[in-house]
Amino acid sequence: MPSPNIKLRDVAAAEKWQQILADLVTDPKELLQILDLDPGQLPISERVLKAFPLKVPRPFLSRIEKGNWQDPLLKQILPLNRELLQDTDSCDPDPLQEAEFNPMPGLLHKYQGRILLTVAPHCAVHCRYCFRRHFDYRGNTPDRRAWENVIDYIRQDETISEVIFSGGDPLAAGDRQLIWLTRQLEAIPHLQRLRIHTRTPIMIPQRVNAPLLDWLDSTRFKTIVVVHCNHPAEIDQSVTDSLSMLATVVDTMLNQSVLLKGINDNSKDLSRLSEMLFSSNVLPYYLHLLDPVQGVAHFDVELSRGRQLIREMQEVLPGYLVPKLVREEAGKASKTLIL
Ligand SMILES: *Cc1c(COP(=O)(O)O)cnc(C)c1O
Ligand code: SF4
Repeated sequence: MPSPNIKLRDVAAAEKWQQILADLVTDPKELLQILDLDPGQLPISERVLKAFPLKVPRPFLSRIEKGNWQDPLLKQILPLNRELLQDTDSCDPDPLQEAEFNPMPGLLHKYQGRILLTVAPHCAVHCRYCFRRHFDYRGNTPDRRAWENVIDYIRQDETISEVIFSGGDPLAAGDRQLIWLTRQLEAIPHLQRLRIHTRTPIMIPQRVNAPLLDWLDSTRFKTIVVVHCNHPAEIDQSVTDSLSMLATVVDTMLNQSVLLKGINDNSKDLSRLSEMLFSSNVLPYYLHLLDPVQGVAHFDVELSRGRQLIREMQEVLPGYLVPKLVREEAGKASKTLIL
C-alpha cells in the first residue's frame, strides 16, 4: 500500500491521538478564551454541564472561526442553558425504545441481519444534539467475559451477516481491542461485513494511524466506514488526508449527517459537504432528522424543510451525491425513508 504510507509519515509527525484524547477541552471558560469570545455574554449553568459535559478535541477547535458565536461548528459543541428546557413532546430519555433491543450489555439487535455493538463507552466529542446523550454507556461497556457472551449471541444467530461497531465512538477504543474483537468475529462463518460508525476521523484525524489502517486492510470482512460530518467547515486538509487514507483500505466509505437548525439547514452547505467528502472518496448516506431526545429541540428542523432541502440538492448535484433523508422511529424494522 505505497500511497498511504507516504502520507502516514506526515501524520506520525503530528501529535498522537491518545494525547489529543487525554487533553480535550472540557472547561467552557477555556473554550471561549481560545475562541476570543466573552464568557460574560453567555453564562452556562452547572446543571447543563453536569447533565452532559463539554468535551471537544483541540484539532476541531482550530476549524472554528474566532469571535463568532454563530459559527456552525461551535454551535454543535457549545453547551446552552436552553438544553434544560423540557419540551412536552420530547422529554423521553429513550425515544427509540432501544432498551427493548438490548438483550445484553454491548449489543443492540434491532434490524434484520445487522447487529450494533457499543464498542466504546465514550466519544472524542460531545455533540449537543446527540441522541445517545442519555444512553447508559457504563451499563453497556462489556468486559472480556461479557464480550464473549456477545460473540456467542452472534454465533448462534445465522441471520446476522453484518456487525456494526458503534458507541459512543468505536474509534475511541484502542487498536488492540478493536483487533481482538474483529478476530473473534472473523471466526464466525455467517458474518460477511464489518461496519464502523465513527465521528473520530473528523474530530481527531490523527486517529487514522498505521495500526488502524492495517487492521481494516487485513480483515477478511467487506468493510464499510460511515463517518459523521455535518458541515463543510469541519473538513480541513488533515481531515481530507485521513479520509483519503482510510479509503485506500476500506471497501466503502459513507457519511451520515444530522440536519441541524442554524447549522446545516441550507442546501448550499449540504451540497458543498457532499462535494468535499466525495473528493476524499466518501459518498453521502443518510441525512437524519433529529431524534426527539430531551434538550435538543432548538436544533430541530421541520420535515417539510428537510424535503425541500433534498429537492434543492437534487437540482444541483448528481444523484449519488444526494443523501437519503431519514428518521428513526421506535419499533420500526428499519430507518424510515422520507425522501
Ligand atoms: C441505524 C441502525 C442500524 C443500521 O441501519 P442501516 O439502515 O443499515 O444503516 C443498525 N442497528 C441499529 C440499532 C441502528 O440504530
Ligand atoms: S460522536 Fe455521535 S455518539 Fe458521539 S456525541 Fe457525537 S453524535 Fe453522539
